[in-house]
Amino acid sequence: MNAYDAGRMEDLLHGSHGLSPVESPQEADLIILNTCHIREKAEEKIFSELGRLRKVLRQQAADRRVVFAVGGCVGQAEGAALFKRAPFVDLVFGPQNYHHLPQMLDRVLAGGRQLHDVEMPTESKFDALPQASHSNRSASVPVQEGCDRFCTYCVVPFTRGREWSRPVEEILSEVTNLAEKGAVEIELLGQNVNAYQGRDQEGVEHDLALLIRQTALIPGIRRIRFVTSHPADMHDDLVSVFAEVPELNPYMHLPIQSGSNTILAAMERGHTVEEYLVWIERLRSACPHISLASDFIVGFPGERESDFQETLNLLEQVRYDHAYSFLFSPRPGTLAAEMEGAVPREVGEARLARLQERINAIQWEQNLAQVGRVESVLVEGPSKKGQGMMAGRTAGFRRINFPASPESAGSLIDVQVTEARPNSLIGRVIPVNAV
Ligand code: SAH
Ligand code: SF4
Repeated sequence: MNAYDAGRMEDLLHGSHGLSPVESPQEADLIILNTCHIREKAEEKIFSELGRLRKVLRQQAADRRVVFAVGGCVGQAEGAALFKRAPFVDLVFGPQNYHHLPQMLDRVLAGGRQLHDVEMPTESKFDALPQASHSNRSASVPVQEGCDRFCTYCVVPFTRGREWSRPVEEILSEVTNLAEKGAVEIELLGQNVNAYQGRDQEGVEHDLALLIRQTALIPGIRRIRFVTSHPADMHDDLVSVFAEVPELNPYMHLPIQSGSNTILAAMERGHTVEEYLVWIERLRSACPHISLASDFIVGFPGERESDFQETLNLLEQVRYDHAYSFLFSPRPGTLAAEMEGAVPREVGEARLARLQERINAIQWEQNLAQVGRVESVLVEGPSKKGQGMMAGRTAGFRRINFPASPESAGSLIDVQVTEARPNSLIGRVIPVNAV
């Protein structure tokens, strides 16, 4: 979502002030840090980056004015308080206010110091944003923002704001514009994307499954993906679309966070492990090759060794293709930050290491099971592996590297998996006439 927002800021400021991206902070007239507040580590990184950039700014010629801005969720959470910690910052804004950037920039350039804009606006930023001027082959489109679930550990409802869905036609016209500019793959984005409930022009509500069906009808769109879903917002049709819409990639990121019902209840996730497993089973029967991904939080207050063991058991049961895992980070303003039963840091870290070891081992085994399969791959560009290798993603969102010419970048080609690595696959291109 932050990457999408940064792209839109770029389009907006290009239109209003003729700005375009540069390679290094030394060349910049405006520096924007678009920030994340989800865990303490992300926040700490921002303040060390601010310190680093400040040194860069100090070395600038005195006559050159560089405007310094902090946007995103740290901007939202800190507001004007950020100026105390970083007095050289000129502008602070939140993820729902960046459409005001041109006016804020004008005011700063006219001599205004230290402006901030973090009031949740009543208007939608999307109404004020210009259409994207270009598109990558794979493009993201936010369909839903914010969250009303208030999981006890999470800052999202406070920083991204309350849950709201974009109107259907607005999304479809953004996808159409991106497709006309070359996009073949669309990633529908939302903090809680499967809670999508947008209205069409007639006022009829559409859920995510219907939106996927409509997106698939747009000429040029060959692949669709959506992130991130909440288990308690799963619905029947969101399982059926996997079997019925060929453009929908066989990939689902459905975070469970913990394998213990006690911890899920303390997190107020609104579902049990057993209910979650029923959805996994149904997804696998609708789409046998579906890649499944999850997020996990380890060391939540009150997590006992037996709760953690249940998370490990769940891992063996589901066998995810990919998973992100984090040490619990107490966030200001959340209920969990005040809960008793803090897990000692070293215990949490040891559990996280054990969890990651199993996640990685299972991921490698799942990768090994792909050997021999022919996958449709969207070629991204030259591989980091080097000479003559290109890199891309399978429909199941696995990284794959294969020998091919640089001209293949941006195309959708068939690749047979020949080898599996812990985090990626190796393959060979199947010539078109051999298929
Ligand atoms: N809406 C999604 C996740 C959004 S946040 C969902 O409900 O699943 C992305 C991930 O960050 C979460 O899935 C969670 O695993 C992690 N996360 C959020 N808050 C956290 C915290 N306080 N400490 C550690 N991890 C956290
Ligand atoms: Fe945060 Fe996701 Fe829970 Fe919403 S559903 S509060 S975004 S973890």
